[in-house]
Amino acid sequence: MEPRGPFTSFLDVYEYLSSDLIECLECGRRFHLLNPHLRKAHGMTCDEYRELYNLPVTAPLAGRLFRQKQSDKMRYLISIGVVTHDHLASASLKSKSAIHRKRRDYDLAEQAQRLISYRRKYGWDKVKNK
Ligand SMILES: [Zn+2]
Repeated sequence: MEPRGPFTSFLDVYEYLSSDLIECLECGRRFHLLNPHLRKAHGMTCDEYRELYNLPVTAPLAGRLFRQKQSDKMRYLISIGVVTHDHLASASLKSKSAIHRKRRDYDLAEQAQRLISYRRKYGWDKVKNK
């Protein structure tokens, strides 16, 4: 395994997060879910790990297979009415008042590029602010 340092590009992060299992960059082992391993083996929280490797604050620390399985499970629970969306109004309010953590530089650069492409695609720059 080649040693990996902090991420500096959006594409590298995307590649890192798109494999079936997520690799621990501390020891090179692969897992469905990184959180328990980080805590037990390296005494580290997910936030500390994201900070150390310059991962986006929202980066899911789980393999693609695990995330897909959770997604399917949630869709099923919604379809049979176990999970509802009644909480969204209060969750939205809570989110607006939450402390937002620092975004990574390459993340902001990628976001700026995306915004420019959306403006071109949808002509947002022609829309005047009211
Ligand atoms: Zn590890």
